[in-house]
Amino acid sequence: MTSVSARITAVETHDIRFPTSRELDGSDAMNPDPDYSAAYVVLRTNAEDGLEGHGFAFTTGRGNDVQVAAIDALAPHLVGRDVDALCADPGSLARHLTGDSQLRWLGPEKGVMHMAVGAVVNAAWDLAAKRAHKPLWRFLADATPEWLVSQVDFRYIADVLTPGDALRLLTAGRNGSDARRERLLARGYPAYTTSPGWLGYSDEKLTRLARRAVADGFTQIKLKVGADLEDDIRRMRTARSAVGPGIRIAIDANQRWNVPEAIEWTKALSEFDPYWIEEPTSPDDILGHATVRANVTPVKVATGEHVQNRVVFKQLLQAGAIDFLQIDATRVGGVNENLAILLLAAKFGVPVCPHAGGVGLCELVQHLSMFDYVALSGTTENRVIEFVDHLHEHFVTPVLIRDGHYQAPAAAGFSAEMHPGTLTAYAYPNGTFWTADRALTPETSS
Ligand SMILES: [Mg+2]
Repeated sequence: MTSVSARITAVETHDIRFPTSRELDGSDAMNPDPDYSAAYVVLRTNAEDGLEGHGFAFTTGRGNDVQVAAIDALAPHLVGRDVDALCADPGSLARHLTGDSQLRWLGPEKGVMHMAVGAVVNAAWDLAAKRAHKPLWRFLADATPEWLVSQVDFRYIADVLTPGDALRLLTAGRNGSDARRERLLARGYPAYTTSPGWLGYSDEKLTRLARRAVADGFTQIKLKVGADLEDDIRRMRTARSAVGPGIRIAIDANQRWNVPEAIEWTKALSEFDPYWIEEPTSPDDILGHATVRANVTPVKVATGEHVQNRVVFKQLLQAGAIDFLQIDATRVGGVNENLAILLLAAKFGVPVCPHAGGVGLCELVQHLSMFDYVALSGTTENRVIEFVDHLHEHFVTPVLIRDGHYQAPAAAGFSAEMHPGTLTAYAYPNGTFWTADRALTPETSS
């Protein structure tokens, strides 16, 4: 038993940046030089168990300080909060943060402030799962349908998903869940990899990494497209000849195109049998996605990594705009909002294929898909979690991929925790890595 009335005592933030732009890791048509970064938060308590809640928002470099400042702005809502009450009902924190009567003006429920809410809410879930001695996926899958429903904010989505709908879906999701949990523990959850397909890689590197992906057991890879059509045709031909006809190749334009261009470009690549076109246009353009989808069949349409909240996902589903819904663990308001989005996807029967990569997005989002498989949708058919083999070494419990499958995490919590040495080295701008780096390149230092 922990001490009476343990409280949150501190909200500690870190601006963590990695120099990924130097290797063109993560390069795509809209993000040619990302420095993968995390606005990282630690919730400290005075509980005797010494447990902390860790969370973060992923960014691509500049602006990570803005993201950190947004998290700092939420601290007054956290410090002093009763830990038992918080862990028993993270949804009340989520509602409280999104409803802040002044900060709400900066959204509502979108952008930097909403991602800050997501980081803090996810940290609370990390703490709750740790205190329950369970990995988050299992913490969620073991919860009662009634409690899970209580964790969802139905505001703005109740016209298509009521609490009664959610309860029915989650109750049905319990049928056979024990067997699925055992299958998950034995086999893992299917993954696909984007590692071969960054726009900045040479054809030789693309071929080598695509072949390695197949040898490693992946049945789907993804290529970044959208900068230059002739290059894309050559790269797509290269990738297809490297992997053969039996491997799915998704393509990802990272919002590069207008709607007509998205249709033309996708058709121009169709001879190489692309599986889905991801983010063909603005993430806010619901009807644009629907138009693209209606015109690129049999190529499927996927989006979600920049979809700002459950309301936009609701409309994408209502409009028949997507074949695959791509949740992201740190874009929206945390686990609670992602529960709402998973429920919306289940209601519409649209497969969820999460966005991951970046910093720690694989570590986090695997928990949500595994919960969905065990206790909600009940299937992995046509479902894959993105995997990118970067930066996992910075996490205390990194993802484990075996034969193209994410292995179910066993450690308690949300797998969000970075090594203390990483926080020291990659703190920007004065961590040991960045200080040493500036010393090596005096001509660019200020
Ligand atoms: Mg993408």
